[in-house]
Amino acid sequence: MIELKGIKKSYSTGSGKPLQVLKGIDLNIGDGELVSIMGSSGSGKSTLLNILGILDAYDEGDYYLSGTLIKNLSEKKAAQYRNKFLGFVFQSFNLISFKNAVENVALPLYYQKVSRSKRNKLALEYLDKMGLKDWAEHLPSELSGGQKQRVAIARALITQPKVLLADEPTGALDTTTSYEVMNIFKDINKQQDITVIIVTHERDIANMTDRIIHLKDGLIEKREPVLNNT
Ligand code: ADP
Ligand code: MG
Repeated sequence: MIELKGIKKSYSTGSGKPLQVLKGIDLNIGDGELVSIMGSSGSGKSTLLNILGILDAYDEGDYYLSGTLIKNLSEKKAAQYRNKFLGFVFQSFNLISFKNAVENVALPLYYQKVSRSKRNKLALEYLDKMGLKDWAEHLPSELSGGQKQRVAIARALITQPKVLLADEPTGALDTTTSYEVMNIFKDINKQQDITVIIVTHERDIANMTDRIIHLKDGLIEKREPVLNNT
């Protein structure tokens, strides 16, 4: 599903000397895998995930997504591939505060020009799958952190992505809620055969995935299979 070869990425800085964040990442992630990316703060996890999500470009190497080379794309092409293949979940939920839960979930379909009645019907189905049917008319400010993240997951799934990318999705949640959200990711991975990639700096969260990729100083330090994941 995902193949990275020699991916390098640097940022320009105020000092004039570029900051090399990724120094040559080689990584394959298969169809239907549940993988976590671990590393200390500043190790380049979000940078790597943003490249995988075609939200950011890389300097060197090759990135193949489902056999397609993702390189030097126009913004239009990048958006097309994002819509076709990818779903995103973020630490801070990124819900629109003045739209209710069902409207938030339906939003990606609005951009795909799906009719209002059809997108709201589908959004309600996805909310229902997340156990949030009764919360459809509520604003994000009326939901708990775990509920907000479940709304965000429903929004990510409504376009039926092949790959779900989550950047510290449990970073703003307490331990119990974190495990609940992780179990949702596991179910999505197993039942819908969606490839799931989760960035985390928490060991217990990573242990709930099938494989841990450790990032350090811009390189993959270790690839660790999780044998009895929890
Ligand atoms: P992580 O997610 O592992 O904490 P990031 O990928 O966000 O790490 O950042 C890696 C390094 O790149 C950090 O030193 C960060 O300050 C720097 N960085 C991230 N984004 C930018 C940017 N847009 N411009 C300049 N430096 C950045
Ligand atoms: Mg980060």
